[in-house]
Amino acid sequence: MRRYSVFAIAREAMRYHTGWEKAWAAPEPKAKYDAVIVGAGGHGLATAYYLGKNHGIRNVAIIEKGWLGGGNTGRNTTIIRSNYLQDPSAAIYDKALQLYETLSQDLNYNVMFSPRGLLMLAQTHHEVRGYMRTVHANLLQGVETKWITPDEVKKLVPIMNIGGPRYPVLGALYQPRGGTGRHDAVAWGYARACSDMGMHIIQNCEVKGVRSENGVVTGVDTTKGFIGCSKLGMVVAGHSGQLAEMAGFRLPIEAVALQALVSEPIKPCMDVVVMANTVHGYMSQSDKGEMVIGGGTDGFNNYTQRGSWHHIEETLRALVETFPMLSRLKMLRQWGGIVDMTGDRSPLISKTPLGNCFINCGWGTGGFKAIPGSGWAMAELMAKGEPGPLAAEFNMWRFKEGKFIDESVAAGVAH
Ligand SMILES: Cc1cc2nc3c(=O)[nH]c(=O)nc-3n(C[C@H](O)[C@H](O)[C@H](O)COP(=O)(O)OP(=O)(O)OC[C@H]3O[C@@H](n4cnc5c(N)ncnc54)[C@H](O)[C@@H]3O)c2cc1C
Repeated sequence: MRRYSVFAIAREAMRYHTGWEKAWAAPEPKAKYDAVIVGAGGHGLATAYYLGKNHGIRNVAIIEKGWLGGGNTGRNTTIIRSNYLQDPSAAIYDKALQLYETLSQDLNYNVMFSPRGLLMLAQTHHEVRGYMRTVHANLLQGVETKWITPDEVKKLVPIMNIGGPRYPVLGALYQPRGGTGRHDAVAWGYARACSDMGMHIIQNCEVKGVRSENGVVTGVDTTKGFIGCSKLGMVVAGHSGQLAEMAGFRLPIEAVALQALVSEPIKPCMDVVVMANTVHGYMSQSDKGEMVIGGGTDGFNNYTQRGSWHHIEETLRALVETFPMLSRLKMLRQWGGIVDMTGDRSPLISKTPLGNCFINCGWGTGGFKAIPGSGWAMAELMAKGEPGPLAAEFNMWRFKEGKFIDESVAAGVAH
């Protein structure tokens, strides 16, 4: 595959962009692969990429029922941060952040990583205590975060009303290295690199069944026929429960719709990401100028992939007190995705009851930021059959053993 460069852009400009290659191939499935990954979202594609790059396993197929990046990866609000509370979480999210910092160069694809800084507002005394605790935990973990005062918040975000009557801003947990990236580009960049390594990305191909013999997976039944494999990785986010059922085991996971919306584009007015967890809303400004806004999940399990109307109203009502300018903005579009939630709000990167079958899910409302670290850890698990240090704590049996990695506080609105 030809490298993208300034010279390539100049060359193509001269010949009316007729010479660009397809970014990834569209092959027909082979009878068998060394590894099959179900789900061409960010986590599935990153798993395949690091299987090839770190472990030399390239006879790999990534099977996707729709189009690559069309699940939560293409629907999220792209917040990237690593200011989690528990050590295993800080380790994997910060590994992901470190990989994001050089991902564009690594993939030769501009993922538009923008470390513009991220604020988590404290708007109750309880939150002040919680975030100070997180700052201390982060210091011990080597993750740079700091506590900042209301005046410092106002300096960073002049459009914010810090003296609201119900929920004044009492300070914030600030991670200067946090920010945003371009979700589609992350999926496309990994897909292009996987295809370049000879891997097969098979779109519009739904897995309908998982075949196994004597506790070992032999392959998957798909809408394009049976595809055999020596190892199977399930990386399907909100559909993990269904895939696990096909393979004959149950997961400690539930599927819920989460939605987001964007405003009409306006002039640049906010160059950090702001999360307001007490009132349950968060906002950043996209490169196009739209205010990107999100809130909480639906209060009931569903697979609707659109979200409910009352959430839009509740999220905006929550944010308007802190950002009065929002009351004069028109909202442009709204969408939803199906997120996979565990009880302790931490993911599963785990072996399963089937010997050669592995699962990566449970990233819930906050897995975009984790894509590179998660792919790195899942690839190691699939290649070696045992988890490395990044994934060791995230096995699915922790719920039986009571070894929760409780991120329900540090996760906040959890994006
Ligand atoms: C509205 C919203 C806002 C969010 N905001 C943020 C944020 O700001 N920051 C953050 O870090 N995270 C955020 N998230 C969470 C983040 O998007 C997800 O955690 C992450 O994208 C999960 O990636 P994935 O690759 O695991 O799943 P997905 O991208 O959903 O990929 C899974 C793929 O599996 C495919 N699949 C499912 N079943 C089958 C089958 N049977 N056969 C074949 N293929 C199948 C699906 O079609 C899908 O493409 C948000 C999510 C939503 C919905």
